[in-house]
Amino acid sequence: TERGDGLHTARLADRAPLAPLIGAATQVPLADGSHTRYVNLDIAASAPALESVAGRVAEVLPWYSSVHRGAGYLSRVSTSLYEDSRQRIGAFFGATRADETIIVRNTTDATNLLAASVPGNVLVLDVEHHANLLPWRRTNHTVRTIPAPTTIAETLETLRTELARSPYALLAITGASNVTGEALPLAQVADIAHEGGARLFVDAAQLAPHRRFSISELGIDYIAISGHKLYAPYGAGALIGKSDWLDAAPAFLAGGGAVGHVGIDDVVWQTGPARHEGGSPNVIGAVALAAACDALDGIGAAALDQHDRELRGRLLRGLAQIPGVRTARIWADSDEAIGVATFTVDGVEPGLLAMQLSAEFGIGVRDGKFCAHPLLRRLGFSGGAVRASIGVGSSSADVDTLLTALRQLVANGP
Ligand code: PLP
Repeated sequence: TERGDGLHTARLADRAPLAPLIGAATQVPLADGSHTRYVNLDIAASAPALESVAGRVAEVLPWYSSVHRGAGYLSRVSTSLYEDSRQRIGAFFGATRADETIIVRNTTDATNLLAASVPGNVLVLDVEHHANLLPWRRTNHTVRTIPAPTTIAETLETLRTELARSPYALLAITGASNVTGEALPLAQVADIAHEGGARLFVDAAQLAPHRRFSISELGIDYIAISGHKLYAPYGAGALIGKSDWLDAAPAFLAGGGAVGHVGIDDVVWQTGPARHEGGSPNVIGAVALAAACDALDGIGAAALDQHDRELRGRLLRGLAQIPGVRTARIWADSDEAIGVATFTVDGVEPGLLAMQLSAEFGIGVRDGKFCAHPLLRRLGFSGGAVRASIGVGSSSADVDTLLTALRQLVANGP
């Protein structure tokens, strides 16, 4: 039981992060020559690996050998590690079959792969990251990008109307905005897509690190994720979803491993994940990604959710109390959002603000247009903005450090 605000605040501020990240105690230099703990509020760009992930990578490195090709013991171990990881990653996201998970480099790779497979027109909203806008423009089909209305209710209605008006093979939508953190109700979006005769692709790069969900339960046909946003190192991601379009598409990477038979003039391509995973695969990356899934399972959906909502709430309430701070928001009626917030401070250039936060306080944020130029323009942030984002390794003390720094910078003036 809480006894007054003071005690409550103290408890929150003391609360430890959910899971340890590697480098969490890294000291960084400040402009005055002193050093301070790095306050990483740029988790949405790339999340530092979890200690358990780093441990797992160290454990499997000695077993590292050729995969899918060797008869030696270590090769067989490597192949099992890779295939078990595929299975683990797919299961984590609710895939019903192991061969529905294709290991790629990252979300961008995944959307480009699906774009090369989609057999008809694609519908997107203008709120997307460029990785979920530009790949579709490279397909042979029409891509329509419609402005998202300012409420979720109207956005769903607009999608429904557009899907009824014209035939689409795919609706491609973000699971959570990398700019505002806001999320659409995915089960409803899936129903709307299917009723309109389209499949649903969800760019889950940002949603996956913050919320547990199952594609089979929600009715999502495809998702893309990036390991480096999910507490694993760079280099591995996944496209998970129905295999029929992918099996009918040209191999994404032509080469060894993607083929069943090669003659001088003919080739028989594999089906399943191998078709698009030409070349030696990223075994260690897949193992790391699977280990991150294990770690997030260990934390549990409820704790992940609560931690994220608590810190997001603290951050947004704090930002709202600082004079001259304007926070980005797409939908007036959204009540579901992850720990990502974008803002500007009146009269301060975002790049300068981000630099000051780093040089004077040791805080890492991101500034710019977050690979979402159409959205930033529409929200009135054409000059860019600053983004703070949190993860399982973040604490309320991290959020408070940012709020205190902003208050100080605002009080001192430009
Ligand atoms: N989609 C969203 C929503 C993102 O936030 C990002 C990365 O910032 C991407 C896609 C692209 O991810 P990657 O750079 O790992 O391909």
